[in-house]
Amino acid sequence: MARYTGPVCKLCRREGEKLFLKGQRCLSPKCPFERDRGYPPGEHGRLARFRRRRPSDYLRQLREKQKARRIYGVLERQFRRFFREAERRPGLTGENLLIVLESRLDNVVYRLGFADSRPQARQLVQHGHFVVNGRRTNIPSYIVRPKDTITVREASRRRTYFKDRANQLDEGAVLDWLSLDADAMTARVLRLPAREDVDTSLNEQLIVEYYSR
Ligand code: SF4
Repeated sequence: MARYTGPVCKLCRREGEKLFLKGQRCLSPKCPFERDRGYPPGEHGRLARFRRRRPSDYLRQLREKQKARRIYGVLERQFRRFFREAERRPGLTGENLLIVLESRLDNVVYRLGFADSRPQARQLVQHGHFVVNGRRTNIPSYIVRPKDTITVREASRRRTYFKDRANQLDEGAVLDWLSLDADAMTARVLRLPAREDVDTSLNEQLIVEYYSR
C-alpha cells in the first residue's frame, strides 16, 4: 500500500500545528514548533505568517481534510474510500468518518501503546508483528470490529523491541473502547469508538462540506 515518504515535519508546518507524527521527537526540543520554526514550508513560508489573510471556506475545508489524512497517514484515494464508507453507515457522516479512521489497525496499535506514533505502528503492522483473531495481519488499514482480539505474535514477543515495550505498556491509560492485557500483550476491542474517544483537534463537519461541494 502506498504511503507518503516525503519530509514529515513539513506536514505539521503546513497545517500550522503539531500532528505528532514522529513519536518521542515530537515531545523534544528538536520539534520545529519548539524552536520557533513552525512557519509554513516553502520559500516564502517565513513571510506567510505576517501576511495572513482570512481563509476562504474552501481553504478551511481543504486544510481540515488534509490534516485528517496526515494525522492518520492515509492517501487521498483511500481517504475518499473511507468517506464513502462513512456515508453508507447510519448516523452522522463526519463522526462515522472519524470512527472508521480510528478503527484502523495501525491506529489501534498506536492507541494501545505498542508504538510511539501512527507511522511507527503502521510499520510494525506491515512487518507482521500482530495477529488479529488468530490470523497474522499485516494490513494497516484493516478495520477492527467489536470483539476482535489483537495480539503480538509469539515470535515477535522475543524481540528486544517488544521486550522493552512490555515494560512501558499501561493498561490504565488505554482508551475505554479497548482493553489491554499487558502481560499477555493481547488487546480486545470492546466496542466501536465514539466521537468523544477521538482526541484529535479535527472539525469533521468541514471535511463533510469539502466532499459535498
Ligand atoms: Fe510534527 Fe513531530 Fe515534526 Fe514536531 S517533531 S513538527 S510534532 S512531526
